[in-house]
Amino acid sequence: MPIATISPVTGETLQEFKELDQAEIGARIGAARETFLSYRLTSFADRGRWLRAAADLLDAELDDVGQMMTTEMGKPLAQAKAEAAKCAKAMRFYADHAEQFLADEPADAPEVGASLAYTRYQPLGVVLAVMPWNFPLWQVVRFAAPALMAGNTGLLKHASNVPQTALYLEDVLRRAGFPEGCFQALLIGSGAVEAVLRDSRVAAATLTGSEPAGRSVGKIAGSEIKKTVLELGGSDPFIVMPSADLDRATEVGVFARVQNNGQSCIAAKRFIAHTDVYDAFAERFTERMRRLVVGDPMDPATEVGPLATRQGRDDVADLVGDAVGKGAEILCGGNTLDQPGWFYAPTVVAGVTPQMRVHGEEVFGPVASLYRVADIDEAIELANATTFGLGSNAWTTADGERERFIRDLDAGAVFINGMTTSYPQLPFGGVKNSGYGRELSAQGIREFCNAKTVWIG
Ligand code: NAP
Repeated sequence: MPIATISPVTGETLQEFKELDQAEIGARIGAARETFLSYRLTSFADRGRWLRAAADLLDAELDDVGQMMTTEMGKPLAQAKAEAAKCAKAMRFYADHAEQFLADEPADAPEVGASLAYTRYQPLGVVLAVMPWNFPLWQVVRFAAPALMAGNTGLLKHASNVPQTALYLEDVLRRAGFPEGCFQALLIGSGAVEAVLRDSRVAAATLTGSEPAGRSVGKIAGSEIKKTVLELGGSDPFIVMPSADLDRATEVGVFARVQNNGQSCIAAKRFIAHTDVYDAFAERFTERMRRLVVGDPMDPATEVGPLATRQGRDDVADLVGDAVGKGAEILCGGNTLDQPGWFYAPTVVAGVTPQMRVHGEEVFGPVASLYRVADIDEAIELANATTFGLGSNAWTTADGERERFIRDLDAGAVFINGMTTSYPQLPFGGVKNSGYGRELSAQGIREFCNAKTVWIG
């Protein structure tokens, strides 16, 4: 895969970037390690000041940053700007809270025969971040803000189709005042990741991306006994029960499926409706999906832009084609658009069976699968019948049902009467093949820390 900005709207290569050679990669790893040795001794106040300055720069440059992201991966411009604004907020959140999250945690000293005992959180060192293109700024910032506040240094191997965003992030953190070497982009292909990961100067890694990429990085890091956090794919259920507000569930459900042109790990992908409301929900949902405005992501009227890559668009077409071939019913869409770029029509598929690939695989595009269930037991069983376990959504106003969903949905998050999203204040991550470890909140900043036991006799 070339490292290049390729317009998803036209398919045209706009800018190509040279991949780093071995010597350049080695120099950057060296700089990250050298910088860590002094950076780990800086104060929370200094780190916070630099991170707040980065947030201010992001806010000031929102329009340009939004256009850059939209150009590289095709999300609607308003969503790109909102992503950049969210990054600035997360930076301020960690600037404000890191010291408190990483404060010494006292233990009951007499119980352990000490005069003083506590846990101290210390940075691990150089952390390699392998990141995806779908939220090209947010995925990186939610790693970088806590990791830098904790005193780690970062190396970013970003997805090959968002090199400008990768370089911008390196630049904005440098301009904000972080010492040289604190955060560097590595313009490398995925084939070069293994050597970086095995380098003894790299302490840990985080990967957000597909399951195969996660397995590979997890395996290599495991063989090196290096800590990893893996944020992988999802096939989130969106359950609609009879007591739900159907209009609201429809509106939110459609956005939960198509935001970011349908390319979100926590997108609602499988819509599971109770039989009493299935027909009404299916009709409203399909109608809204059919009316979505698909087009140029720079146009403010556009609700759904192109998929980010030709491969991504073809993968979605293959999954839908497989379902149709096995008897699924297409309620709307089901086709690529006959124009340049990687557009795919918002699609609703009904009559999905376990034999169809859309049932078991992650559909990374604006395609919703609809299921009818008889009761809450069947809804939960179907929701959990996936190898993934990232987010989950359930719509009900019945207290007993709400508790069942919270208790029994096998996922890293459950959102009742809302769509799964991420907040700096709440942990984010998955179970099963959606990965392990957590980002965001106090848990996220501790992932790349050594929880050092201190015992004083
Ligand atoms: P991807 O193909 O796995 O790529 C993600 C990153 O991993 C890219 O930087 C890619 O580099 C690199 N990579 C790919 N294969 C690799 C390998 N074998 N070894 C090392 N690095 C490798 O995923 P994507 O298509 O960009 O992103 C979509 C996926 O990410 C979806 O499955 C989505 O659900 C998941 N995702 C998960 C979360 C979460 O928080 N759980 C958030 C967002 C996205 P190249 O670009 O150079 O190939």
